Amino acid sequence: MNIDKRLVRKDSLEKLFDILKQNSKTIYAPFSKNSKVSFREADSFSGITTDYIQTTQSSKEVAFPRNEKILNYSKDKEGMKVKGIDLNDIPEVVLWGVRPCDTMGIGELSAIFNWDYKDEIYNNRLSRVTVFGFSCSKSDDYCFCTSVGGNPGNTQGSDILFTQLGENGDYLAEILTDKGSSIVSISSALFEKTENIEKEKFLAEVPARFEREEIRGKLEKFFDSQLWVEQSLKCIGCGACAYVCPTCACFDIQDEAHGKSGSRVRCWDSCGFSTFTLHTSGHNPREVQSQRWRQRIMHKFLIMPDRLSVYGCTGCGRCSRACPVDMNILEHLISIQEVSL
Ligand code: SF4
Ligand code: SF4
Repeated sequence: MNIDKRLVRKDSLEKLFDILKQNSKTIYAPFSKNSKVSFREADSFSGITTDYIQTTQSSKEVAFPRNEKILNYSKDKEGMKVKGIDLNDIPEVVLWGVRPCDTMGIGELSAIFNWDYKDEIYNNRLSRVTVFGFSCSKSDDYCFCTSVGGNPGNTQGSDILFTQLGENGDYLAEILTDKGSSIVSISSALFEKTENIEKEKFLAEVPARFEREEIRGKLEKFFDSQLWVEQSLKCIGCGACAYVCPTCACFDIQDEAHGKSGSRVRCWDSCGFSTFTLHTSGHNPREVQSQRWRQRIMHKFLIMPDRLSVYGCTGCGRCSRACPVDMNILEHLISIQEVSL
């Protein structure tokens, strides 16, 4: 569809929030606490922040919660009864304030959840999410979206992308999908018609740092490189990088039993954990941390593009900001590009 561009006054954002609430939308938005900015359910507009480069956690939890019951079971004299979750209970959500590197991550996550098996729960959750992207006016040294196909004003994955026109300015709203149009239809007075506004001069500058196709080509010949050992010496396998990442999709399935009944729960996992590939026989095909680090990079920059035609990294820089031992994925990708084979 053609992109419909409107002007939304800064003061109108609160009115928009109130209209969404009146229309029974559950709103997740960024809030600042203890110098961290995180998405949480917003009961009122007050306290929603726009002053952040990136939230600590990604917004993937809205469609892929970190712990999620996928069925309940019970056993009685007649046998085992199994009840799946009621997909009608999934709320209509507006995800407010998502940076373009996260909105782009929705496409990458969806590619994983729809590769061979179509994940019904994930797809149902996502179908009820309307994404309000907010372009970036500032960046830091961890950001590298422009090296992986994104940019600070990227529209990909947003239903409406808001770009603030200068500090304290009003917003350009790009209406990108039918979901975005349906929001405009319930709040049309707030979306004013406008002449052509160029958003580019209001966006952060993020210099390109590497060529992802070049990295992909190198990785094809790189499996046994000593570089994996050198890069991963510091890694303690804590899994923080996977938990904050907008595109990491690994999960474990656990049964939580209470007597004769219980729940089956899907919970986040990480290829950085030492037990991730541990077999019940005791054999572990990824015995050491360098093999797990290699898997993380190979999966995002070689296996995903080969198998799913998307890369598994949006350049948000979260994994580097969150790492307790300063593993920096950007530096490691640059060093892979610089290796001569
Ligand atoms: S956050 Fe850092 S230390 Fe933890 S698993 Fe990831 S790279 Fe290793
Ligand atoms: S790998 Fe790191 S930089 Fe890339 S999308 Fe995940 S958290 Fe962001």
